[in-house]
Amino acid sequence: GTTYLSDYKPFPFEIRGVALTFALAPRATRVRARIEIAPREAGAALRLDGEELKLISAAIDGTPLTPADYRLTPTDLTIHPAALPERPFTLETEVEIAPEGNTALEGLYMSNGMYCTQCEAEGFRKITYYPDRPDVMARFDVRIEGDLPVLLSNGNPGAAGPGWAEWHDPWPKPAYLFALVAGDLRATSGRFTTASGRAVDLNIWVRPGDEDRCGFALGAVERSMAWDERVYGREYDLDVFNIVAVDDFNMGAMENKGLNIFNSKLVLASPATATDSDYERIEAVIAHEYFHNWTGNRITCRDWFQLCLKEGLTVFRDQSFTADERLGAVKRIEDVAALRGRQFREDAGPLAHPPRPDQYREINNFYTATVYEKGAEIVGMLKRLVGPEGYRAALDLYFARHDGQACTIEDWIKVFEDSSGRDLSQFKRWYTEAGTPRLRVAERFENGTYWLDFEQETPPTPGQPEKAPRHIPIAVGLLGQNGDEIMPTRVLEMTERRQSFAFEGLGARPVPSILRDFSAPVGLERATSPAEQAFLLAHDTDPFNRWEAGRGLARDTLVAMAGGAAAGADYLDAMGRLIGDAGADPAFRAACLRLPGEDEIAAEIARRGAAPDPQAIHAAREGLLAALLRAHGAALGALYEAMAVPGPYTPEAGPAGRRALRHAALAILTRAEGTARAEALFQSADNMTDEIGALNLLIGAGAAQRPLAAFRARWKDVRLVMDKWFLAQSALCPPETAAETVAALGADPAFEWKNPNRFRALLGGFAANHAGFHRADGAGYRFYADWLIRLDPVNPQTAARMSTAFETWARYDAGRQAKIRAELARIAATPGLSRDLGEMTARLLG
Ligand code: ZN
Repeated sequence: GTTYLSDYKPFPFEIRGVALTFALAPRATRVRARIEIAPREAGAALRLDGEELKLISAAIDGTPLTPADYRLTPTDLTIHPAALPERPFTLETEVEIAPEGNTALEGLYMSNGMYCTQCEAEGFRKITYYPDRPDVMARFDVRIEGDLPVLLSNGNPGAAGPGWAEWHDPWPKPAYLFALVAGDLRATSGRFTTASGRAVDLNIWVRPGDEDRCGFALGAVERSMAWDERVYGREYDLDVFNIVAVDDFNMGAMENKGLNIFNSKLVLASPATATDSDYERIEAVIAHEYFHNWTGNRITCRDWFQLCLKEGLTVFRDQSFTADERLGAVKRIEDVAALRGRQFREDAGPLAHPPRPDQYREINNFYTATVYEKGAEIVGMLKRLVGPEGYRAALDLYFARHDGQACTIEDWIKVFEDSSGRDLSQFKRWYTEAGTPRLRVAERFENGTYWLDFEQETPPTPGQPEKAPRHIPIAVGLLGQNGDEIMPTRVLEMTERRQSFAFEGLGARPVPSILRDFSAPVGLERATSPAEQAFLLAHDTDPFNRWEAGRGLARDTLVAMAGGAAAGADYLDAMGRLIGDAGADPAFRAACLRLPGEDEIAAEIARRGAAPDPQAIHAAREGLLAALLRAHGAALGALYEAMAVPGPYTPEAGPAGRRALRHAALAILTRAEGTARAEALFQSADNMTDEIGALNLLIGAGAAQRPLAAFRARWKDVRLVMDKWFLAQSALCPPETAAETVAALGADPAFEWKNPNRFRALLGGFAANHAGFHRADGAGYRFYADWLIRLDPVNPQTAARMSTAFETWARYDAGRQAKIRAELARIAATPGLSRDLGEMTARLLG
């Protein structure tokens, strides 16, 4: 069935306390629950969620229930009102579950002999009968019995002995934040003293053998705690903070109270095994999960429609943290590139939905770029509208007013309205309407006054044919013809469908820099010239818009080349200046030098109303790299040498930026000039950034046979590195034969397809191999659909998530459209298809 936002009703009982006892066994774990319950409405039935549970017994105040007292279905245990006391009572249940057979990785499951849990969003109902909804918050006491050295749960540790341990969580929480871990684990430990003097024990728990790859994650926890105190005034609130790394995990990580559980790829790092981007990602996700302690845990969501209340805000917080810790301008560029690549793409297709959706069949399908990344952009717009002090005041009010509550987007907006005095009712549309607004701008210069004439329009999205105008903050600056800034950044507030803004007293027509820092998640459309783009790339004082100008120039160049044109001189000259601009930051230059990906070019061609030709796009990109090499080969060779990083590897932003620029140069040099540099780098690398970076380029150049074998021999026992081996080949192998290459990899004994990281490496990599995946004969689509059908009964959540590879079908020509739709229809018709993948295929087919 479908769940609707408009059907929300509060739970008719109060849960005053929960005591859980786990007797762990792989095939028959017993879970005893003792729940203190108080009625809030007379005559209500007590509905407890429960799935895949074997009910052993149930009793109220010590008296066993008889089958006449309740109704048991595959999804719930409902106790009839007549069987319930009209005063507070205790419900005791015992159930049996089988963690070993749980391949869906939701609820209590096993990974390499370790017990672990994933309860968000609705996994707790696979552990015991309980009101599994985020607005039911309670204190949990947990006792774990099991013959394993380390037994962990939420909160502070209590009594313990051989084979058992107790945990007490003093903070009321919804069931989705419950966690349990048991296994043979080793800790890397530290200590953090909070601003008010609480000593917190920090532990990163991993399997034996992985201990030497935890140091960076531990440091990231300490930096996150310090930052949240300094910037948001938020302190940690328990005596321990535990993080556990798990090899089999559907998502990135999970913010369970006091016991964060992580995909091991987001914890484990050493110079030899992790790249610069892995390090950056690890730091960001550690921060993200830690920041949830306040934005998500202390203040949680009333229902799952409000998911972006915690996720959008927490992504915004982790992005701000990384921007502060590293190079802020480059972080913003990376975030916007990711937003466009994933969220704009989602908004432009059949899966478009508002950041706060109003219906779903399977909530796990809504952990999307729209909820997370667009949710973060909306918080950023609010901050821009009320200013930094106004933002801090609003957040202070949010924490003061709502601590301990389960809240809505309305509560969140009200806090900004009350603290700033502004009316944000129109702004709220960002949360309730789907789609990326198109913002067209024209300009006029008349008698010393410069006009910007804006027009906004949001295309229809599924279920939302009409769109009302949004409240859009547009940050604008003006440059003089000589490149000097003549008007610093000013935020224009657009609220109408059409709106003009005047800038008076100008002696000459200025050059505008519009949507600085990407002040709103819109598609800006403006007639410009390559010369003006090159001018802004050289002179804009807003670093984001400098990059943006270069990006637009690159995109336009590639679109023209995919249509048969030659590389234009404006782009090549602009890149020449950038290559030689030793004064600019290396990470920034790297971001400017990297070409847009093929999917981005395809999206741009579709936006202009044509059907993209994946093979022509691939050829255009190769052609532009070759043209860059012809024009600037010598300078690139010199840049490659100049950016060598002396001394041992460290993951800090400084050296990482130099490596990024070095690899951007190498990516151009390796195409036509030969593969010698990349081979030498691969041979001599003392860190994974260089090793895999060189290997990637050799794969693209079709010269990787021996390096691939060497890499495999070296890393065959290190799972996370072998994931890179699969990913590199499927994403970067020559597209003409990619389907065959990937099929061979799928048959490799090392392809452990039930491990989500391994599955995502091979199949996600293939979907990113744009021209290979979209091969005209449909072989790529068929191969991909076969694997989704195979994975679905084992792990529906990951199968459903990966089906988004097909969300762009409407962009392509009729032949490809028909082939993709046929595969989607074949998946949809599979007997026993999961609710997860069933909902996705139905939405994808429209
Ligand atoms: Zn999150």
